[in-house]
Amino acid sequence: MSNGLQTVSYIAASVLFILSLGGLSSQESAKRGNIYGIIGMFLAIMATAFGGSTHGHGILIASMAVGSLIGIIVAMKVEMTAMPQLVAILHSFVGLAAVLVGFGSYLDAHTQTLQGAAKSIHLVEVYLGIFIGAVTFTGSIIAWGKLQGKIMSRPLMYPGRHAVLIAIVVASMAMLIRFLDMGTDAGLQILIIMTVLSSIMGILLVMAIGGADMPVVVSMLNSYSGWAAAAAGFMLSNDLLIVTGALVGSSGAILSYIMCKAMNRSFFSVIFGGFGAAEGAAAKPSDQAIVGEVKPISPEETVDLLKESKHVVIVPGYGMATAKAQYSIFELVNRLKAKGCDVKFAIHPVAGRLPGHMNVLLAEANVPYDIVLEMDEINPDLPETDVVMVVGANDIVNPSALEDPSSPIYGMPVIEAWKAKHVIVSKRSMAAGYAGIENPLFYKENTRMLYGDAKKTVDLLVASLDK
Ligand code: NDP
Repeated sequence: MSNGLQTVSYIAASVLFILSLGGLSSQESAKRGNIYGIIGMFLAIMATAFGGSTHGHGILIASMAVGSLIGIIVAMKVEMTAMPQLVAILHSFVGLAAVLVGFGSYLDAHTQTLQGAAKSIHLVEVYLGIFIGAVTFTGSIIAWGKLQGKIMSRPLMYPGRHAVLIAIVVASMAMLIRFLDMGTDAGLQILIIMTVLSSIMGILLVMAIGGADMPVVVSMLNSYSGWAAAAAGFMLSNDLLIVTGALVGSSGAILSYIMCKAMNRSFFSVIFGGFGAAEGAAAKPSDQAIVGEVKPISPEETVDLLKESKHVVIVPGYGMATAKAQYSIFELVNRLKAKGCDVKFAIHPVAGRLPGHMNVLLAEANVPYDIVLEMDEINPDLPETDVVMVVGANDIVNPSALEDPSSPIYGMPVIEAWKAKHVIVSKRSMAAGYAGIENPLFYKENTRMLYGDAKKTVDLLVASLDK
């Protein structure tokens, strides 16, 4: 392929990536956005693989075939509930790639022939690329371990942890100055030491973050992986990789900012960690005494209540994903609509375990977009709602976020379910959600607990409504 054709393909791929990101901003256009992304990536890979400066096509095609096969199998097998872990581990690959490209580029004969400013600039690219790549690599592995339940999700706290992180950054930057004046062998040693330090930094950074801050960490690592890719693009003098990396890096940073706003936390308080608890743990009592008692309700009583209701709002959470209850819930919605009831979904920006988790599951069950509303859109309607049905959600409907300044989630906007006339909470027990804290909603006068697995419970409701 000629250089001109490669450049044209790169420009077309860049445009397709931008259209893809634009498409992903709304549910209606998300599928189209994905298709643009797939075509753009195909074009990018082909233009790179068959461009003038690429050699060794045999090994390249063989590794692409193996990689594609692994990708297809993993994507087909992954459960929706395990998506965040998959995303995290994929970010780690980008980080590792940047580290390997960095070492490869440093040892490349061409680098050794560079002189003056060109050499310094290239060495800084290599150094920063490896630094960001190593932080992304180990940080993403820890995020995967936490989301997969292999590593405790509680934040790792120890005295002087901020000082340790600052010391690593200062030491790494000090070594960069020496690195620029070194010969290849001594420079390689510095690169290895810096890689070890930045790998430790990635581990410490993410180990210190827990509980409800994980969504921000996943999108933050997404951003890091973009910058790592952009750094690799500089090292390889590949314009498309720089553009793509910058797109991923900046969109990940914007998403992190949006998530922080949704949780009412500052970006720095997230990065410096120390928030949240182990999943499934018994709820940590809050400083404010919870008044009221827990009142269970049977599926039959729930159906009676629903039959009398004109306006119902369903609030899905992580439990809907684990129970795979979205199809049954849509059945329930259709039954209620057939009885003349107005049913809507209320989606919290951090419901579930990844941005947009609930939207994806509801779209999978063919729930029409027009009845799926964002938290801010639905909150004003809740006082006029007959029943809010909370299905497998906990933290996102916790009134402590608004009422209890001692609560770890104080300040996070939530779906104000308790304002409805009746609240039904479908979950298996009184166990805590991701943030590991008590939920006073379960004790409110107008709340009833509908115990059991969300799918089985909703199936029972559907069967009873049919009778
Ligand atoms: P939570 O984790 O707060 O609560 C989920 C609830 O679902 C649990 O209390 C659990 O109770 C219940 N549950 C689990 N399995 C089932 C089941 N099979 N059937 C019925 N209920 C079930 O989830 P939310 O969606 O309310 O809040 C999300 C939390 O996760 C927030 O704290 C958020 O910050 C965090 N987070 C969000 C991410 C994102 O990007 N969206 C990523 C990572 C974390 P029980 O065991 O009693 O059934």
